[in-house]
Amino acid sequence: MPDLNMPGHGPLDNSLAVGEDLWRAALPALAERVGSATYEGFLKQSVVLAFDEGVFRIGVPSQFAKSWLEDRHTHTISAHLTELTQTPVAVLFEVRSDLAPEISPAAPVYVREVPPQDDIPEFGLQPLNPKYSFDNFVVADCNRFANAAAQQIAKSPGRAYNPLFIHSKVGLGKTHLMQAIGHRAKEIHPHIQVIYVQTESFVNQVISAIRDNRMGEFQRRYRYVDLWLVDDIQFIASREAPASEQEFFHTFNTLYEMNKQVVIASDCPPRQLRIMDDRLRSRLEMGIVADLRCPDVETRVAILEKKAETEGIVLPREVLEFMANKIESNIRVLEGALAKVCAYITFDGGDMSIPSVEALIADYSTAPADRRITLDEIVALVAEKLDCSKEEILGARRSKDIVWPRHVAIYLARELTPNSLADIGQFFGGRDHATVLHAYNKVADALTEDERALWMINELRSSLQE
Ligand code: ADP
Ligand code: MG
Repeated sequence: MPDLNMPGHGPLDNSLAVGEDLWRAALPALAERVGSATYEGFLKQSVVLAFDEGVFRIGVPSQFAKSWLEDRHTHTISAHLTELTQTPVAVLFEVRSDLAPEISPAAPVYVREVPPQDDIPEFGLQPLNPKYSFDNFVVADCNRFANAAAQQIAKSPGRAYNPLFIHSKVGLGKTHLMQAIGHRAKEIHPHIQVIYVQTESFVNQVISAIRDNRMGEFQRRYRYVDLWLVDDIQFIASREAPASEQEFFHTFNTLYEMNKQVVIASDCPPRQLRIMDDRLRSRLEMGIVADLRCPDVETRVAILEKKAETEGIVLPREVLEFMANKIESNIRVLEGALAKVCAYITFDGGDMSIPSVEALIADYSTAPADRRITLDEIVALVAEKLDCSKEEILGARRSKDIVWPRHVAIYLARELTPNSLADIGQFFGGRDHATVLHAYNKVADALTEDERALWMINELRSSLQE
């Protein structure tokens, strides 16, 4: 809690206008300190309600935003304002639901003039694949954050987080999730104009538009887009067509400035993209960056079960488990193997014994993704971010304010390093593997129930993976 009984407020003028100016001046630096997700999600929409006696009353869009900022960032924010004003400053947050990004279902947001279809030049746009829906997407720890952000965006395009940047290794569900946003947004907002485009095809469109002198027409196409889904942005850096990166940047800015939603998928985080324009890179980092990771074995089984069910085929559980154990790091490969097994059983009347399945999918196994994060790094980061010391995390004390950071560190250790439970226990002060598992499960449970925990873990994980 901020201290409200502060000594005199010195030279500050206590008017609302001054407060607003100060707040505006503070925001860019605050964005850096609290992280882009918190900034985009909450601070960007905040308003100064009052500034009096050195106390800022800040209106934020939701109860969630209020508790998130209070729990995690009050100190950072008041310290920065104190520094800026050279006077002690306290900050209080209040919920102002009129700032919320949510659109009520009744609000006719996308009812507006839509040009006749003939007027829209078609540049080989790709239709959405009906299979890639939220209903067919299995949610687990590996994709929970990205899924939550995607659902939010489908509900309130252009109002929630912009842009959403999804990244992962190949075959882990980027395209699926992105198209799910498109489907859901169209269900909720029937008039919304959605464009899904593969970056390679965007590059080709730019090349032919330039060649045919149709650039104006090409750019006009995007005036009517409300939701732009751009897949595999890593291909934007094309030596044959440097203009395409520029054109992408231009389109992105145009849409962004009109509050249109942009969703981007990539095989690497924005930082590692080989793009020439640094401004573009920082724009891409500005919104929410969410990654998709390799699903654990139970999730892989669940995905296989779902796919088999859609195909109308029942496979014995041990076959699914066998396959899920064999193929670790790419869901597309897993699906390929499943299709092969299904065809073998349905058309060739093959048997479903493990040895025959093993022979069938021998070529499909994949190596697990490489991981290099160390336990030391994890403990150091958690200590820093959750306000305790490394010694406390690794030590024996069991007070509540130490136990949670310890659980978080153990959770991240298991998720992000290849260490066994026993190794992790050893590192965390000689705990046994059951204790480690218990800690892990505590956090995993919290992630399904508490959105704040989800955000926090996502932030920690992104810092570690930078
Ligand atoms: P990426 O774009 O990351 O390369 P895709 O979106 O093409 O990956 O996904 C590869 C395949 O795996 C798709 O058929 C997709 O439906 C499936 N898939 C990925 N993640 C999931 C999930 N969580 N639940 C169900 N299917 C998934
Ligand atoms: Mg893809």
